[in-house]
Amino acid sequence: MNIIFLGPPGIGKGTQAKIVAQKKQILHLSTGDMLRIAIEKRNEVGLLAELYMNKGRLVPDEIVLDLVSQRLKQEDIQEGFIFDGFPRTLNQANELKSLLKKNNYKIDHVIALNGKNEILINRLTSRRTCSKCQQIINLIFNPPKRNEVCDYCDGKLVQRDDDKLEIITNRLRIYEIQTKPLVDFYSNENLLRKINGIGNLEQITKRIENIL
Ligand SMILES: [Zn+2]
Repeated sequence: MNIIFLGPPGIGKGTQAKIVAQKKQILHLSTGDMLRIAIEKRNEVGLLAELYMNKGRLVPDEIVLDLVSQRLKQEDIQEGFIFDGFPRTLNQANELKSLLKKNNYKIDHVIALNGKNEILINRLTSRRTCSKCQQIINLIFNPPKRNEVCDYCDGKLVQRDDDKLEIITNRLRIYEIQTKPLVDFYSNENLLRKINGIGNLEQITKRIENIL
């Protein structure tokens, strides 16, 4: 079974993708992880991707598509897979469609997790990072025992720039602009399954499993 997970920042898409992949015994393919691995390997694609990431810029479609294309040629992919964090744009979705066709694969479901922006903003702005051990904690889901102090190393908890309201609002806006066309694209292909992404982990996994 081959699946794509769509969803805004803060919806818990990566977590659900991992759980579902494990339950269905299929691969969890995160393009973020794939980029990190390519960078660690210091190969051509990795070095190129690193140039963009170091400047805080989005890695261009061609690089991501190159990685995905290489991944689709490996044998373990035949067991089935979940794409998490990809495709992000209409261009990527179109390219993926022809890549899959070329390799004789098809997508069975596109799971679109959604939730109100206020809830996502609330979750994301509640993230704190330990300035000493880099542990990430969430003030709502796993509050520290002491205010602004890391439970693991007593370091001071800080809010990273990435987790500040302005940046988060902007990320959500970009997601909406880029992803709305994707939702229509997969809806036209009769693959789109919309799921309420607000609730506890088990509830949401159950909602996804009911569709698959
Ligand atoms: Zn710490």
